[in-house]
Amino acid sequence: MINLYPVLLIANIPLILGNIVVVIAAILLGPWYALLTAIICVSGLMLLWASPHVYLIFGLEALWLGFAKRKNVYALYASIAYWLLLGMPLFYLYATFFTHIPSASLPFIALKQSINALIYTSLGALIVLIVPYFWHFKTKIIDSQRRTFNAQLTYTFTLVVTLSLLSSTLLFNNQFIKRQKATIYDNLNDSVVHLGTFTSVFLSEHLKAINNAAHWLSIDNQGQEDWQYQLTSLHQSYPSFITMLLADKKGNVIAASPKADLDLSLKPNIADRDYFQQAFFYQQRFISSVFLGRGFGNDPIVAISAPIYSPKQKHNPIAIIEGSLNLNQFAQIDHANTQNHQQAMLLVDGHQKVIYASKMLMLKPLTSLKMTLVGEEYETGLPMMNIIDTKNPMPEFIYAAFKLKNGWTLYALNPLMPLIKLIEELYLATFAILIIALLVTLYITRVVSLRLTQPLELIAKDFGQKHTTTLDIEQVENEAPQEIYDLHQRIQKSKQTLINYQSELENSVTLRTQELEKANVKLKSLSEIDPLTGLCNRRSAELKFNTLHEINQRNNETMVVALLDLDHFKQVNDIQGHLGGDEALKAISALLVSTFKRDTDVISRFGGEEFLLILSFSEPLKIEAHLNHFREKLAQTRLSNPLTQAHFTVTTSIGAIMASPRFSASLEDWIKQADINLYKAKDSGRNKVIYTQIS
Ligand code: GH3
Ligand code: MG
Ligand code: MG
Repeated sequence: MINLYPVLLIANIPLILGNIVVVIAAILLGPWYALLTAIICVSGLMLLWASPHVYLIFGLEALWLGFAKRKNVYALYASIAYWLLLGMPLFYLYATFFTHIPSASLPFIALKQSINALIYTSLGALIVLIVPYFWHFKTKIIDSQRRTFNAQLTYTFTLVVTLSLLSSTLLFNNQFIKRQKATIYDNLNDSVVHLGTFTSVFLSEHLKAINNAAHWLSIDNQGQEDWQYQLTSLHQSYPSFITMLLADKKGNVIAASPKADLDLSLKPNIADRDYFQQAFFYQQRFISSVFLGRGFGNDPIVAISAPIYSPKQKHNPIAIIEGSLNLNQFAQIDHANTQNHQQAMLLVDGHQKVIYASKMLMLKPLTSLKMTLVGEEYETGLPMMNIIDTKNPMPEFIYAAFKLKNGWTLYALNPLMPLIKLIEELYLATFAILIIALLVTLYITRVVSLRLTQPLELIAKDFGQKHTTTLDIEQVENEAPQEIYDLHQRIQKSKQTLINYQSELENSVTLRTQELEKANVKLKSLSEIDPLTGLCNRRSAELKFNTLHEINQRNNETMVVALLDLDHFKQVNDIQGHLGGDEALKAISALLVSTFKRDTDVISRFGGEEFLLILSFSEPLKIEAHLNHFREKLAQTRLSNPLTQAHFTVTTSIGAIMASPRFSASLEDWIKQADINLYKAKDSGRNKVIYTQIS
């Protein structure tokens, strides 16, 4: 409905506003609904202009805007891109091939079309932005892609600037053009009345002159010989006649002035001329239409004539007097119209033949005026016509007409082109101002948004760092807006709290870690050391064997594994009690430690009352003696029961082997062999060392 009644600007260019709906549909509902909306609302334009191009151009625009929205491009930016890349070129091509719009006006009209598009796009986008009524479309309005504050601010500013600037300049331009049209129209009317009056006076004065001459000749004629003399002297009084002549009742010229220009001996006759017939037969003063003169030359002339009577016969004319007007006199009238340089003057007689035309019109006197009244396609609201190119749909002149009493018409004409040019310049200026304004907007919004985002970034950066970088934060404290400053203060406080809390946490974590480490050390020793004797246990012995075996293998050293089992220990337990047994185990361990003193010697409690020795660097001959030395030393050691203070002794059987590390990497194999020897020692009476060397 809105598109059915567009706001008409000059030169057939309406301001389309109905397409706002298309923009809104594109933003809220996507490309296909936008296309549907465009088809519906552009039908208004179709009814108005009967031109199917609207479906193509506005349909494509709707799709473009819809897809742009899907890609998160702002509607106004998308619109600018569309009209630059597709809209304007398409319109240009269409108008070139399918309309009569003159090609000179096309770029301007295309430009105007896109300015129009920018207006309704920004209006639509702003409506979506500020009308919360679309609440049930909320999810559609929110951008699916997060944008920077700068981008949001810039877009909003751009919308407002585009809309306000374009609509205000359009209104202003329109108003200005209206004034301009009114001025042109008033000037034309002034001029035509002025020129018309002037021409009327000019004609009536010359008519009066001829009349007076006729009157004078009627009362004072001294016979035909005298007339040539009288005419010559009359002509001197009226120099604005090019020529003058007298003709008798038969139309024969009897006197002519200037005399030299007409050969009277050729007996020229003017009986066929209007001016003769009108003056002679109808006895009236007469101003002719323009016609081609003869005799005096072949120039177009206008003749003024009147009848001459004899002094006696006052009702029957005896001759006529005629004066040919100098048509150049009209040029003087035209040139006197100095105020309006652009205006042209055109004077035509009752037969539409040109009497006078300004140079600009390129019409010679006597040519028939073919003029067409045009302008249906150009809504200037002024009377317009074409004279030079009558088939051109582009109007050439704005005109005003003045009818003279003798049936002539005087036109004052103003070329339309300067007005169109002026309008084009206004629109171009509008567009240029828009571009400059948009550039300024970009700059200003950047500056404004930086005032907000820069301190925010600094605050965020500062928050991430443990120690404040004073230089940047000073900037926030000195320059940032109040809200940002407050935020900074609050964050600073929170940060301090957080840092305090964190260091507390760190301290307690350190404390706990230390405790944990201590516990771990304890746990480790617990898992490796036999609590009763303080020797390493079987598991630990196995680990130590692996390390030792590796080193000895590299150094090609021999190794000894010995198994010790106390003799008849059950009995010791039975007699001395378990506590006494334990005491014996402790004492034996201490003896082992003091006997096998090398750093590399591994002494471990293998289980119950059994011990395992792993010795390296051992000399084959000495080892057996060493073991026996221990065995004897133990046998001689007096042990005491802590409960009963009773003394007792224990002996041990020892099974040992010696071999190169290559014998086996597994402690199990070594023990198996040592155990065989131990068994032998027990079997052969106990308190013995059985020792074999495995090659
Ligand atoms: P044999 O000469 O054949 O070795 O005779 P034995 O009595 O020592 O026999 P055996 O080795 O089979 O017995 C081991 C005894 O050692 C059994 C247990 O009463 C005693 N025993 C094992 N572990 C401990 C311990 O930690 N403390 C005490 N007091 N006695 C233990
Ligand atoms: Mg045993
Ligand atoms: Mg035993």
